[in-house]
Amino acid sequence: MGFDAQRLALPGVRGLQAYQPGKPVSELQRELGLEQVIKLASNENPLGCSAQVPQALQSCLAALAIYPDGAGFELREALAHHHGVAMEQVTLGNGSNDLLEIIAHTFLAHEHAAVVAQYAFAIYGLVVRAIGAELMVVPARDHGHDLAGMAAAITAQTRIVFIANPNNPTGSCLSQMQLRDFMRSLPEHVVVVLDEAYLEYADEGGVDPVTWLAEFPALIICRTFSKAYGLAALRVGYALSSPAIADLLNRVRQPFNVSSLGLVAARAALADQDFVARSRQVNAAGKLQLQRGLQDLGLSVLPSQGNFLCVDLGRPAQAVYNALLARGVIVRPLAGYDLPQHLRISIGLATDNETCLRALAEVLV
Ligand SMILES: *Cc1c(COP(=O)(O)O)cnc(C)c1O
Repeated sequence: MGFDAQRLALPGVRGLQAYQPGKPVSELQRELGLEQVIKLASNENPLGCSAQVPQALQSCLAALAIYPDGAGFELREALAHHHGVAMEQVTLGNGSNDLLEIIAHTFLAHEHAAVVAQYAFAIYGLVVRAIGAELMVVPARDHGHDLAGMAAAITAQTRIVFIANPNNPTGSCLSQMQLRDFMRSLPEHVVVVLDEAYLEYADEGGVDPVTWLAEFPALIICRTFSKAYGLAALRVGYALSSPAIADLLNRVRQPFNVSSLGLVAARAALADQDFVARSRQVNAAGKLQLQRGLQDLGLSVLPSQGNFLCVDLGRPAQAVYNALLARGVIVRPLAGYDLPQHLRISIGLATDNETCLRALAEVLV
């Protein structure tokens, strides 16, 4: 018997399926020889990012040989100031996905369990199972989190509960009142990860870190610069927590997990809240346009508090996804989420939304 990598891998890793990202524009252009391609598949900001960002990045270009500030001092200081928390409560990540992994490695071993909701963001399950810890998946309620069910799934082995609010890919959102009641009901041996990647688009916004972290020492709030701030390429996210949790995360974190470009760009982006407000407005208008267009096609759309819509085609979605690709429109199939009849469509600029709706109308006849 020769070398067998599969046999050597951890059992948890052997059973994993790699995360399926949205298809890159360049890949579809290469495959089909198409020039015009629109991508509404990765919940990226169609406005790009703040004009302050490219300007700020100029200052980095002369120092590419130098390691980044491993403590991310200036960005953490700016985030602490922005949220009214102490710098010691801010942990930076190479995107918030990095933080999800750091948190899992900080609190989970193979004898532990984590609780997630059915249809919740796929990365939670990946990081938990890679460690070999048990993943408890609680059936969804209205395609969202069933908090009572999740509380009931907690055992002595549970160390983490992951909550995406709003949730990707379904767009569901819990009210702060529901979340607060849930937090108050929890035993003291579990940490709650509240992933607020889309808070800027949600009607209620995110939780107030100052009051929530004061009341709930086991809470970790994760946020990202990838969505409303439009910096997905640069990979910057952050966690807000108690200083004690941040201290632990900092031990597990790679020392230079955020690049110099990411640090500088995020600080410039944070300072331009007008851009975030504009992104929210453009998203709200695009959401109405797409919702109406999809409903006019006779499709049912889940209510969404994010920058994407989850639409039920009432038939297998893969063929529709492929037919849209052939027309140069990239959206996201959700078979990997056990939603084989749904597509997730990111909300774009009006022209791209229109192109997508027109392609969908052709495909669905
Ligand atoms: C996009 C997304 C993130 C952010 O990922 P980054 O690593 O920060 O780019 C986190 N959580 C959810 C639910 C998301 O959809």
